Amino acid sequence: MADALSRAKQIIDSRRLAAEDAATQRRLELEAISPELKEVNYRISRAGIEAVRSAGNPDAFSKLAQASVENKARRDAILQGLGLPVDALEPHYTCPRCSDTGVCDGHYCTCLKALVEQFRVDSLSSVTPLKQSTFEDFKLNYYTEPALSRMTQIYNYCKAWADDFDRSSGSILLYGQTGLGKTHLSLAIVNVVLAKGYNVVYTSAGNLFSKLEKESFGRLPADETPMDTAISCDLLILDDLGSEFTKPFVVSALYNIVNSRILAGLPTIINTNLSYAEIEAKYDPRIVSRLLGSYRMLECLGSDVRQLKKDE
Ligand SMILES: [Zn+2]
Repeated sequence: MADALSRAKQIIDSRRLAAEDAATQRRLELEAISPELKEVNYRISRAGIEAVRSAGNPDAFSKLAQASVENKARRDAILQGLGLPVDALEPHYTCPRCSDTGVCDGHYCTCLKALVEQFRVDSLSSVTPLKQSTFEDFKLNYYTEPALSRMTQIYNYCKAWADDFDRSSGSILLYGQTGLGKTHLSLAIVNVVLAKGYNVVYTSAGNLFSKLEKESFGRLPADETPMDTAISCDLLILDDLGSEFTKPFVVSALYNIVNSRILAGLPTIINTNLSYAEIEAKYDPRIVSRLLGSYRMLECLGSDVRQLKKDE
């Protein structure tokens, strides 16, 4: 949990820094076009410093306040003259409520809580570290033909999918033997989609089903609602489907999640070492027909990449 909180704070910090960097960049570009804007911006920041100094002098303070109103009106007019909105120089925060600080009215902001929640279903610490599982770190040179061509296609598909992600993106089933990079690709997608500010739940199937079972028996704290989270998050990634112990509860929970997300039009990624026939035998033919009807099927090929990495 502490880990989820610090990770969530990191993400919010990087959103804020990125928004502020972009705003600085925009200001510099606009000031290069308009020297008058540069001059007005300078007067506004000067006045701010003097206002602090003149805090004990009401006369000086009210003069500065008056000048500040005029300067800001002038700046707005310049921006409008350039065809820009008056807030063009302000950072565009992902969360306007807390300006990407994670704190609002002295409490954790909803944006921070949402990020913590998405990590709560399954802490990522048990799998490959998120930071090392990027598209840049995915090594296609571990594969030889014909697997190389297939994995290059899958890599390109996943990268474009992540870059274009929104809540209406299609779903994906990544299948094939163990150790072909399915988890790495999924985590690379998580990195990109999280950075866009979406709510992502990444969980192993085993972990999710055991949480759901506890929930159904009322054995979770009231604020932990994994079924709601799994059904409503922007992106659900269910890793290693088939590794869990299958029982009727699991079959019906999986069907419920897959079906609810399809009906809601929300994207899901499922990774599995199972074939279609094995999924059909293990779960329910209805699940397979849902997957075939709504998921993009990507079959990974190759030999176990993890072994090759160890041999290096
Ligand atoms: Zn916020």
